[in-house]
Amino acid sequence: MTAELDGQVAIITGGSRGLGHAMARALAQQGARTVLASRNSNECVAAAARVQSDFGSPSVGAAADVSNPQDTDLLVRRAVDAFGRIDILVNAAGIMVRGGIEETSVEEFDRCFAVNLRGSWLMCRSVAAVMKAARYGRIINVASVQSFVGLTHRTAYASTKGGIASLTRALALEWAAAGITVNAIAPGAFVTPMVERASHTPEFSEMIQREVPLGRSGRLEEVYGAVQLLASPRSSYILGAIISVDGGWVAH
Ligand code: NAP
Repeated sequence: MTAELDGQVAIITGGSRGLGHAMARALAQQGARTVLASRNSNECVAAAARVQSDFGSPSVGAAADVSNPQDTDLLVRRAVDAFGRIDILVNAAGIMVRGGIEETSVEEFDRCFAVNLRGSWLMCRSVAAVMKAARYGRIINVASVQSFVGLTHRTAYASTKGGIASLTRALALEWAAAGITVNAIAPGAFVTPMVERASHTPEFSEMIQREVPLGRSGRLEEVYGAVQLLASPRSSYILGAIISVDGGWVAH
């Protein structure tokens, strides 16, 4: 039986763990060959080996810092060298900065923007030539509930996620005629290494009960459906959409 993404190739930044890793698994489940990137070479190589053994599609790990333009160009070249094409790009690499605005340093603010927003922008720019030559591409950015609603003590992070929503819409228009769709997924609360420590606090449980109609955080497999939809050739008429996967958080 053929799977929908058989023969296709996907780069997933932040693919070594958490939501990025889940998104890589979602694509491998549909037959895509995957390139998993993060700054830690050992971790992304090990994560790729897990994907390959669990789903049977070839997967490689590649170290890259998405905030660095040389790294993003090199990552694209490595994917083409490994598999000959790139159909799908998932920009899931991200970092969190917590703290009140007066306690957040300018360096933390700049780093958060460099990874979350500039990193997504750079990856899109680096992959442009390959996708435009093929006249086909599926780009999936990772926004957040915080693209739509405020949470205190996260001004830097929330600002990057507002920016990712705007990047998604602007680039969707820019590349509409090129056969490349640009969309985003806006996750709610998923217990990944990014939020692991915070998830044990009473404030986290209270926030989930107060904000999430389903009354729980998401299971990683619950992001698969949105990723598979936006990566599919069948989503050719979906442009600039931001799909919430948040248990109803922004709907209530
Ligand atoms: P995570 O578990 O901390 O994973 C983050 C991933 O990004 C790791 O693979 C990490 O690997 C990689 N990364 C960080 N900085 C990088 C850089 N400069 N270059 C390349 N890779 C880098 O976080 P997560 O919760 O899965 O988050 C994934 C995405 O979902 C992020 O964009 C996050 O903002 C978003 N999100 C998460 C939630 C949630 O509840 N978890 C909610 C909404 C949105 P290295 O550190 O080894 O580089």
